[in-house]
Amino acid sequence: MAVEEALERLLALAEAAPIKGSESVALADAQGRVLAREVVAELDLPPWPNSAMDGYALRLADWQGEPLPVSQRIFAGHAPASMQPGTCARIFTGAPLPEGADCVEMQENTEVLQTGQVRFLEPLKPGQNVRPQGQEARVGEQVMAAGTRLGPIQLGLAATLGHARLEVVRKVRVAVLSTGDELVEPGQPLGPGQIYNSNRRLLASWLQRLGCEVVDVGILADDLQRTRQCLAGLGDVDLILSSGGVSVGEADYLGMALREAGELALWKLAIKPGKPLTFGHFRGVPVIGLPGNPASTLVTFALLTRPYLLRRQGVAQVAALRFNVPAGFDWPKPGGRREYLRARIEDGQARIYKNQSSGVLRSAAWAEGLVEVREGTTLRQGDIVSFIPFSELLD
Ligand code: AMP
Ligand code: MG
Repeated sequence: MAVEEALERLLALAEAAPIKGSESVALADAQGRVLAREVVAELDLPPWPNSAMDGYALRLADWQGEPLPVSQRIFAGHAPASMQPGTCARIFTGAPLPEGADCVEMQENTEVLQTGQVRFLEPLKPGQNVRPQGQEARVGEQVMAAGTRLGPIQLGLAATLGHARLEVVRKVRVAVLSTGDELVEPGQPLGPGQIYNSNRRLLASWLQRLGCEVVDVGILADDLQRTRQCLAGLGDVDLILSSGGVSVGEADYLGMALREAGELALWKLAIKPGKPLTFGHFRGVPVIGLPGNPASTLVTFALLTRPYLLRRQGVAQVAALRFNVPAGFDWPKPGGRREYLRARIEDGQARIYKNQSSGVLRSAAWAEGLVEVREGTTLRQGDIVSFIPFSELLD
């Protein structure tokens, strides 16, 4: 199955299971959340015309170029008097324009005469250095649509509009489970044949960044009975996300248990790293089974699970931005699967980590993103490739 097809299917499944319910949260708690309701301007932004400069405000209509006396000083945060004819007003950045004024000249283009009058040294135009009322938004205008993800910039905008709280989609509850008898938690001694569980931390931390609530189930032993018990004991979650145990190996107990109680499809993805991926339902709860090799877990989470989770919250724009960059490497052998190479941008070129094995998470820790190499292609240094920065994928 091509990556696009898998993504399309997952997004359709996500749309069929939207997260229902929302809550009102303070801006300080809204980071990473998704708007459940549009944000509408309840005031003009800015609410009144104001000065974009430190300088002098005047009314051009009744000015012939002569020096003008200063009739008032207007600081930001203070209400001005109306413009007195035949004068100018000292004004500072962000201060409201006095009624009747239509132009601000920056102080650098003026000269204050001995008399205290101000001479304007350059030609003036109506509206110059004035931020008009409502230039950013008009009362009643939708400023952010439902489905908008809230980061620092969106939260800043909500604050500009005076919103103290926002209605956001309830957090997605994701049960994270790692499968494998070989897994041991960091901090514990390693026995023979054992390795440390990296996917649990990787997935749980990533999910938290995405604004999800993690239900950390820990390690699931390769044992059918215990797998059944674990699944049965899961509380109310929106997604069961597992890693490992989805290859066609004999230790696929999660797959067995899921097939008994629901349905499960094994997708053989044309993606490297990360060929096997499962999708199914357990008692109506969607299940995504990611492959266990850490780099495979990472790539399939980034490219498939992340957009799925965002779409379930109603986010329209789920694709990560990508950029065209010249390859800083040769790729002589065409692959049968689409490859996502862990890469870094150096001197404007994408350089790839020397070991691209799916078991090597260090490749990704070294990298700044993923280079996409389409199936069946070869590359020479300098050829253009698509690069997806991790910064796009992590939030
Ligand atoms: P599996 O799909 O269970 O056969 O796992 C594929 C590979 O990924 C094996 O080498 C596993 O040891 C490894 N693996 C599976 N789960 C984890 C995990 N949580 N942390 C680190 N490596 C894992
Ligand atoms: Mg396993």
